[in-house]
Amino acid sequence: MDKKALLSLTPEELKAELSAYPAFRAKQIFSWLHKGKDFDEMTNLPAAMRQTLKESYTAQPVSLLTEKVSQLDGTRKLLYALEDGNCVEGVLMHYHHGYTLCLSTQVGCRMGCAFSASTLNGCVRNLSSAEMLGQVHCANRLIDGDRISNIVLMGSGEPLDNYDETVRFLRMVSHDEGLNIGLRHISLSTCGLVPRMRRFAEEGLPVTLSLSLHAPNDTIRRQLMPIANTYAMDDVLDACRYYIEKTGRRVIFEYALVDKLNSLPCHADELASRLRGMQCHVNVIPLNSVEEKALRGADEKAIRAFMGELENRHISVTRRREMGDDIDGACGQLRRHYLNDREEQPT
Ligand code: SAH
Repeated sequence: MDKKALLSLTPEELKAELSAYPAFRAKQIFSWLHKGKDFDEMTNLPAAMRQTLKESYTAQPVSLLTEKVSQLDGTRKLLYALEDGNCVEGVLMHYHHGYTLCLSTQVGCRMGCAFSASTLNGCVRNLSSAEMLGQVHCANRLIDGDRISNIVLMGSGEPLDNYDETVRFLRMVSHDEGLNIGLRHISLSTCGLVPRMRRFAEEGLPVTLSLSLHAPNDTIRRQLMPIANTYAMDDVLDACRYYIEKTGRRVIFEYALVDKLNSLPCHADELASRLRGMQCHVNVIPLNSVEEKALRGADEKAIRAFMGELENRHISVTRRREMGDDIDGACGQLRRHYLNDREEQPT
């Protein structure tokens, strides 16, 4: 039988789950769990109780499988092991304001974007909120004495395709008795599931919404993102406006520049017209090449021209810093290489 993950429970739920014990025990356990500790480390619990808990429950469902550290900037690409033998990846970045962790929300992804390594074998399963929290604890253990202060839900998976667990994760990770990471320090990135975006706008969670746009119109967007066949760009942009209206927060548009396809000055011009008057920011992403995909990134000159055109049209734009370029930076690639290597091992 699968063991229940205690990490996903609120203090009230944990108290109910552990009602066989005095209430102060649930409080102690909650505090240990959200400091990233396993049962053996819960030193103020009797040994027999720790043993009993271990038989029915999991404390930390995520452990580190491998890591790669960038020689260029210290960025760490992490591969985590889950209890059922699956693995997911993350990226730990150190900026001057602290540590940012890029989290996965699913094993694989079913959105099928043309440039994404995560989606090559489809979606294996959703991650639980406990497994999302577990990634944060696992990364915190690597930076002993320091803490993750910012989170981006930009690893493998589509967070709004795993809606309930993602929302539970956001409530838990920002809980003042838990990790207490401010929602304003968290970004959720979506390929644009319109009905879910509207529902998410109403949750009262002031996270930054990042929208993977990658095109100035539906024709080009459909070539890169199958989801564009389901939701028209006008509807996606309307859902973004709704998010801005409900949360008062600007939306970030992510735009990976693919050679010629979406990166010409005329594309920048069309994009600027579509975004005019919106409280938004464009984050231009130099495409990370993925071996299995034929797409090529735009060159330096094209990137600069594209950004210049947006600036001329008064659209706020920055370029995503390329971190960990030497360590399989693109989302999904480390796991893919690991799985490929494992398949090649003689059994
Ligand atoms: N499903 C969500 C989150 C995962 S993708 C979404 O679609 O937003 C997170 C970001 O990584 C997206 O903006 C995506 O465009 C970017 N990304 C994926 N593959 C990439 C690649 N090969 N090069 C550059 N950015 C990539």
